[in-house]
Amino acid sequence: MNDVYLDNAATTPLDPRVREAMLAHFGPGCGNPSSLHRPGRLARAAVEDARRNVAGLFSARPEEIVFTGSGTEANNLAILGAMTEGHLVVSSIEHPSVLQVARSLERRGLAVTFLPVEPDGLVAPPSLAAAIRPDTRLVSIMAANNVIGTVQPLEVLSQVAHDGGALFHTDAVQAAGKIPLDVTRLGVDLLSLSAHKLYGPQGVGALFVRAEVSLAPMLFGGGQERGLRPATENVAGVVGLGKAAELARREMVADAVRLVALRDRIVDTLSSELPNAYLIGDRYRRLPGHICMGLAGQEVEAIRLLLELDARGVAVSSGSACSAGSGNEPSHVLRAMGRDPIAARGSIRITLGRFTSTADVDHLLRVFPEVARALRPQASR
Ligand code: PLP
Repeated sequence: MNDVYLDNAATTPLDPRVREAMLAHFGPGCGNPSSLHRPGRLARAAVEDARRNVAGLFSARPEEIVFTGSGTEANNLAILGAMTEGHLVVSSIEHPSVLQVARSLERRGLAVTFLPVEPDGLVAPPSLAAAIRPDTRLVSIMAANNVIGTVQPLEVLSQVAHDGGALFHTDAVQAAGKIPLDVTRLGVDLLSLSAHKLYGPQGVGALFVRAEVSLAPMLFGGGQERGLRPATENVAGVVGLGKAAELARREMVADAVRLVALRDRIVDTLSSELPNAYLIGDRYRRLPGHICMGLAGQEVEAIRLLLELDARGVAVSSGSACSAGSGNEPSHVLRAMGRDPIAARGSIRITLGRFTSTADVDHLLRVFPEVARALRPQASR
């Protein structure tokens, strides 16, 4: 049995069609996009083609896309670039690449509000409205959460931010290419994404910056990417992101329909086989392939469960394992949803993707209940 990879929220495998598109940009004759000669012009054309494809995924204009070195960098640029002054609002379940930027601004003396979330993991629009002040410059709320997979009501939240005179940024690293995101319909001013979550390469991302929004750069150099991200472009990486975006636009709906059926089968089967299993986060407002489960009374066993599954060829994640080396720390996301520190330590994240097959899910559903039962104390099996 091959390994069954069910940790697509951590990173997705490179789509072979993306690899193929990238390979053409490693060989001789590949120039610097800023050079005027033919190899340079070819590289420039490839970068601009990728920009059109990324813009197309969000119904944005190509000139509104800035390539970055990662989703983390896109989030940093959005927030640091906008927050030269004023008050910042972020949700308390953001990825560390937003939360830690917010904390660093707070240490520099700027006012920051960390918004609470409801027990289902969603931000309530009235709580955002109450947090907005006359000097609020930016609201940053993620499109979909990396730990629990819940999808926020962006259209309503961005309207609340705009009514209060603030800009709206969304970290769409988990959502991009998985659910439709039209920046105009959603009222988003800034949107971050990362290639390695949509079957592209690691180490490349992008930030959508609405044409009317002006950001201060974090880096200074040769003026590439409209001066917002100066550095010689990672041409092969950018080409990979462009190809991944083009494929996502074409295949997102078919992928989603298939993954929702597999996801719901996993949730239903595990809930009926294991009476103590519970789903974390809203049942329906979630990414198509994303499941976060807890096992009541067994939360302390989450890491052992993960390792036992690994030994049987199934790769899943513990709900908190979305930052470097995180071991058994309670997840800040589950804590913000009101879970106690024990329950917040013990979730299992199962995330499906384009390459997840029905046979993979069959294997998971054979071994997961067995492993979970074996770890349960004798009396409660
Ligand atoms: N934002 C979210 C929601 C994520 O899940 C991640 C990665 O796990 C990031 C940002 C960071 O993206 P990158 O790994 O490209 O820096």
